[in-house]
Amino acid sequence: MDPVVPVAAVSVTSLLNNVLSSARTAKDLAKQSSDSELKQQIADLFNDILELKAKVLDLDAENRELRDKLKEKTVVERDPDTECFYKRGETDPLCPKCFQGSGAAVYLQSQQDGTGWCVICVKRYPFTRREPPF
Ligand SMILES: [Zn+2]
Repeated sequence: MDPVVPVAAVSVTSLLNNVLSSARTAKDLAKQSSDSELKQQIADLFNDILELKAKVLDLDAENRELRDKLKEKTVVERDPDTECFYKRGETDPLCPKCFQGSGAAVYLQSQQDGTGWCVICVKRYPFTRREPPF
């Protein structure tokens, strides 16, 4: 008997590949059978697993993207004095519209008139660098 590996220790991809491998073996074994219903059922199962794998990989990618966004969100802080948003430990302000709207951390580009220009939403805001310590 194979040793039992905790599910959490196994990645979703390797788990799916194991299931796919078992289904492929069952499909190959079924080729030797004269039971056409069994062959069809195993072929359907194999195709369903392939479809499931594609969906799980999509969800896995989406999950990773959301985790990255969440991580970025948690290190951005608002300075109550300047009312600007900054990445933790940095001095240059982020676009408040982009950050509050979609969670995108877009740096304002300093302009000669003292404003900061956002390359994404094309808005201008006061450009206030903050002074350490934060
Ligand atoms: Zn913006």
